[in-house]
Amino acid sequence: MVEIPKTCKAAVLEEYGKPLQIREVAIPAVEPNGIIVKVEMAGICGTDIHQHQGTLTIKPPLPNIQGHETIGRIVSVGEGRTMDVAEEPLKVGDRIMWAHADCGECYFCEIARAQVHCSRRAGYGFAPPVVLRGGFAEYEYVTPITKVVKVPDELTEEEAVGVGCAFRSVVAGYERLGGINPQENVVVQGSGPIGLYSAVMAVEGGAGKVIVIGAPANRLELAKKWGASDIINIEEVTEPAKRREMIMALTNGRGPEVVIEGSGVPAAFNEGLDMIQKGGRYLVLGQSSAQTIPVAPGIITGKGLTVIGSVSAAIQHFYKALQFIKNKRTKYPFAEIVSTKYRLEDINEAFANMATGKDIKPVIDNRNR
Ligand SMILES: [Zn+2]
Ligand SMILES: [Zn+2]
Repeated sequence: MVEIPKTCKAAVLEEYGKPLQIREVAIPAVEPNGIIVKVEMAGICGTDIHQHQGTLTIKPPLPNIQGHETIGRIVSVGEGRTMDVAEEPLKVGDRIMWAHADCGECYFCEIARAQVHCSRRAGYGFAPPVVLRGGFAEYEYVTPITKVVKVPDELTEEEAVGVGCAFRSVVAGYERLGGINPQENVVVQGSGPIGLYSAVMAVEGGAGKVIVIGAPANRLELAKKWGASDIINIEEVTEPAKRREMIMALTNGRGPEVVIEGSGVPAAFNEGLDMIQKGGRYLVLGQSSAQTIPVAPGIITGKGLTVIGSVSAAIQHFYKALQFIKNKRTKYPFAEIVSTKYRLEDINEAFANMATGKDIKPVIDNRNR
């Protein structure tokens, strides 16, 4: 039996743009099928920075606890919850990850079968302190309807934490893309976590060339370690026309069959349309900004392109991403995506370094608490 305190520390967003405040918050009582976890590691995401600044398209009510990329160690399991989605038995001491809670009853859950669009989705990382559904805390409450997956024992937290947001989103995107056909050339725009996981999935999916466009150099070095055949540093090659020229030279003058957008920069969409081969497929994963840009839609018609958008993911994508890491962990240094580990008390410093792009994937590391 693990002793669970009545309260724990959490970093609370009380006012947009102001430092997060470390507060003492109550730990809810566990319901049947609910789970209380001790937060082991919580990833900090680009979304967190926008959420903190109040520039996200959705504005959850204040105050709230952020953090939606969490690995938790079970300290209490409510009656009725005996296994994870892969039918692995669950017990106190196991490490789990979990998806946002889809209702399982609405039009998008049941008719459209697109759970990511659930009308009544109860999210993690956006909720008030009283429900304790945010990773930037010592403990977190996983609700009864939330689907969970056990983190394989052999994985370190550093290897697994990227599954919580970027990697599961990439797996969901690849599912919508229908994968890569043998020896298709792939360009990945962006070298953050979305771009890096997109690249290694392309490599393992049978691509020919996998070309990653991004910056800074440390991210591109990791792209190479994860199997990218070529990298283009946008800090060195600043002109889109010059980048296009380099990509044409690498792809027999026709451009890549597949482009994956993982940069989040609106202008990257035009650059992708411009370089992609006729008849090609464009998977747009990174765009979350409300900013508009001029686009010539005739390119999509003229080249006969397939443009696919994908957002977020469901629990099966967490499972598949964890299996990918489990099966390929001796081949690629997955843990290297975690660039810096911070204490919960230093979260404002972590946010600042994320905002400047200094870190690839900064995390809050609670393992010594
Ligand atoms: Zn995220
Ligand atoms: Zn639903």
